[in-house]
Amino acid sequence: MNSGSGQSCGAVIVLSGPSGVGKSTICKQILERVENVYLSISTTTRMKKIGEQDGVDYFFVSRDEFEKQKKAGNFLEYAEVFGNFYGTPRDKLEKALNEGKTVLLEIDVQGAQQVKKIIPDARMIFILPPEHKELKNRITGRGRDDEQDVKKRLAGADAEIAASEFFDYKVVNDKLENAVEEVLQIIKKEIGE
Ligand code: ADP
Ligand code: 5GP
Repeated sequence: MNSGSGQSCGAVIVLSGPSGVGKSTICKQILERVENVYLSISTTTRMKKIGEQDGVDYFFVSRDEFEKQKKAGNFLEYAEVFGNFYGTPRDKLEKALNEGKTVLLEIDVQGAQQVKKIIPDARMIFILPPEHKELKNRITGRGRDDEQDVKKRLAGADAEIAASEFFDYKVVNDKLENAVEEVLQIIKKEIGE
């Protein structure tokens, strides 16, 4: 695969889907089950929430710092999502690809579309909820977001789902084990295992 820097390297797999659908949960299980996978940690201007760790869940930065990194070309892609900025650090992704790793990106649909343009070989997976009302249960059940943030995330879900047509694969996250298995099979197929 070509990362856009002209070198031949590992595969890029993008996971997108509405907030609360289970993307992070699925990615964490994939990391435990597939070797040689690097899960990209995004940089964001949103506030760190209870239970989150800097450098683990995200790199939390100020708007000024984000802008500085953006201008320096440090992001492979970036987007404004729910009023905050999120970007994929380019250096860590390129390092992982050059080491032949499979890179997982858990990003929104705007970012996914940008990645597809830069890395046409990237494989795009969209995670869907079994039914719309389940999103609210999962977002509130996670206990991470305040009422305003829950509202913003639910309001954005329909537009995200409408963009799913552009993805190579769609996986419904009803029973978690089944969804993980499905994503696992897609990744294995794409990396030729
Ligand atoms: P996302 O990363 O897409 O925003 P998360 O992975 O944080 O979503 O999942 C949101 C909540 O839903 C978490 O509390 C998670 O444990 C739960 N969850 C994930 N998948 C399932 C599933 N298949 N069934 C029930 N709950 C799930
Ligand atoms: P949250 O604030 O709920 O963790 O994430 C909000 C949204 O931002 C989710 O859809 C998530 O996939 C997306 N996101 C996280 N990191 C990135 C990134 O680096 N780039 C883009 N474009 N979206 C991201």
